[in-house]
Amino acid sequence: MPSLEQRYQEVSERIDAATAAAGRNVGDVQLVVVTKNHPAELVLDLLALGARDFGENRDQEASPKAQQVAAQSQLNAQWHFVGQLQSNKAKSALSYSHFLHSLDRPSLLQAINKLELLEPVKAFIQLNLTDDENRGGIQIGQLEEFANAVLASENLTLVGVMGVAALDRDPRHDFELIAKASERLLEFAPDAKSISAGMSHDFEQAIEFGSTHVRIGTAITGNRAI
Ligand SMILES: *Cc1c(COP(=O)(O)O)cnc(C)c1O
Repeated sequence: MPSLEQRYQEVSERIDAATAAAGRNVGDVQLVVVTKNHPAELVLDLLALGARDFGENRDQEASPKAQQVAAQSQLNAQWHFVGQLQSNKAKSALSYSHFLHSLDRPSLLQAINKLELLEPVKAFIQLNLTDDENRGGIQIGQLEEFANAVLASENLTLVGVMGVAALDRDPRHDFELIAKASERLLEFAPDAKSISAGMSHDFEQAIEFGSTHVRIGTAITGNRAI
């Protein structure tokens, strides 16, 4: 069994190799280690290995974890909220999250706009890459209208788009859709350059299609502990 350190190093090397293979500058892809279902101790171990960016998908779990990490380490962790966020949890989640990857619906944006935050949170618009409107995320056809509403928000800074590739086909198909949506977004939001795409099983393909933030859990953390 490789150790946490070995898995972290191996994934970091694979990210750099994929970035170079795509003709991009090594360092342009940010690793976000998804630590959901793992205790704060794992985050502390990862901080000691050099990781700084951590992803969580449930406020109930992430909020105490972020507090514990802040109390037990001098190193600054940056928290990325990557899961579906209930509107009534937005206040809590945005009190410790630096990034929201899953801004997926107008009602969540409205709830966030009502909050009083110390500073804006960086937000990715989560795309729905299917034709099924019942799936989470913004349809690509609605992206411009929704992005303009995000740009008008005092509580959010729009940094880009996010997507999760379907499991039942070549992920390149979805990563290409995300890349095209990103290009359209940049026409009217030139600062929203980031793309959050790629997980343990598909991050190399995501990097090929321009991902700037890969969200990687099990390839580093092993199987879920709690
Ligand atoms: C859990 C999760 C990840 C990480 O998934 P792995 O397959 O464990 O790498 C990435 N993104 C989101 C939105 C997640 O919920």
